[in-house]
Amino acid sequence: MFDRASVVTPGGVNSPVRAFRAVGGTPRFMVSGTGPYLTDADGREYVDLVCSWGPMILGHSHPEVVAAVQEAVARGASFGTPGEGEVALAEEIVARIEPVEQVRLVSSGTEATMSAIRLARGFTGRAKVVKFAGCYHGHVDALLAAAGSGLATFGLPDTPGVTGATAGDTVVLPYNDLDAVRAAFAAHPGEIACVITEASPGNMGVVPPADGFNAGLKELCAANGALYISDEVMTGFRTSKAGWYGVDGVRPDLMTFGKVMGGGFPAAAFGGRGDVMAHLAPAGPVYQAGTLSGNPVATAAGLAQLRLLDDAAYAKVDAVSAELRALVGDALTKEGVAHTVSAASNMFSVFFTDRPVRNYEDAKRQDVFRFTAFFHSMLAQGVYLPPSAFESWFVSTAHDERAVERVAAALPAAARAAAEATA
Ligand code: PLP
Repeated sequence: MFDRASVVTPGGVNSPVRAFRAVGGTPRFMVSGTGPYLTDADGREYVDLVCSWGPMILGHSHPEVVAAVQEAVARGASFGTPGEGEVALAEEIVARIEPVEQVRLVSSGTEATMSAIRLARGFTGRAKVVKFAGCYHGHVDALLAAAGSGLATFGLPDTPGVTGATAGDTVVLPYNDLDAVRAAFAAHPGEIACVITEASPGNMGVVPPADGFNAGLKELCAANGALYISDEVMTGFRTSKAGWYGVDGVRPDLMTFGKVMGGGFPAAAFGGRGDVMAHLAPAGPVYQAGTLSGNPVATAAGLAQLRLLDDAAYAKVDAVSAELRALVGDALTKEGVAHTVSAASNMFSVFFTDRPVRNYEDAKRQDVFRFTAFFHSMLAQGVYLPPSAFESWFVSTAHDERAVERVAAALPAAARAAAEATA
């Protein structure tokens, strides 16, 4: 299948992080998923610790989500008119996340961040955007500078195809460094439209904000007439009922969402202050649109998933995450492998270094070759990890004792492989 894919698709994949370039080998082609398990085209079963890079927080093929999708699609796939499902999903988002007064639905996280920075520029009449090295906000031209995720995985500083003019309005700063943000505002007075940050970064591995960092960003933005945009595409509806906002309570001016809110379908959103959102067309002059925005099937999936995500569901995901973190840490400690298990609520990743990781430069200093050995050992034993040392691991409410035991059984050999690996 990979040979066939490589003929008709660049690199054989439709998103670079799916390829095994960073770890070597052939990507697995999955044919089905049930609960915490994936089955590949050769019939092998894996415990899935990727969960489609975050969305599948109830596990695969949750019966109530499947039923909602079947019911919606039977009524028609897309109308190109307003519909009740999109209103209900928007109401659910607004009800959960207090700073979001209005929300606009789109089809991907990339569209959400792209639209949010256009709106911030239109609202403030300013051009510059501040972002942080190692944060990934989708493949928006202006936000690809020093980005995490696939660019971190493949060690790409930037990408050809983004013009100097586009990148010239992007100011890239080290993460968790408020002094650098202060200096940027001083260097560009009246020019910065917004600061965009992952609410808690998961695209350089998991690197939570230091105490007071997000609050400091909010304060500096407010003092300098810029908007504070919190990208919750990954953390939204995952790290708590109200995402990372539910954890740190810092009120953004604009927020972006994706992944969990689509229930595995292409649905994403941006939203925030009513006076800012009022600048969007057709209410205001900032243009933004989408043929499939608010698609009835995607919104039905997202709504069904969000309605199942009650306090008990988050408690379950948090508990599974804590259990796995402890198991991974113990296994690596037993083999004397230098490591740091880093967590933000139930998102977590393992850095193969015992030095503190506070930003992208720290994250890059780990022994990536040990991750590679660890990854392949886990894969061979039926545990599917993200094929990169710079990505978050994700669990779901469906990860039960049997799934956890299978991971636990695979860990000793994987930790040994990491210990024995050479650069
Ligand atoms: N923002 C963050 C924080 C993300 O993690 C991602 C994707 O991983 C995006 C934006 C882009 O979302 P999408 O891949 O749906 O375009």
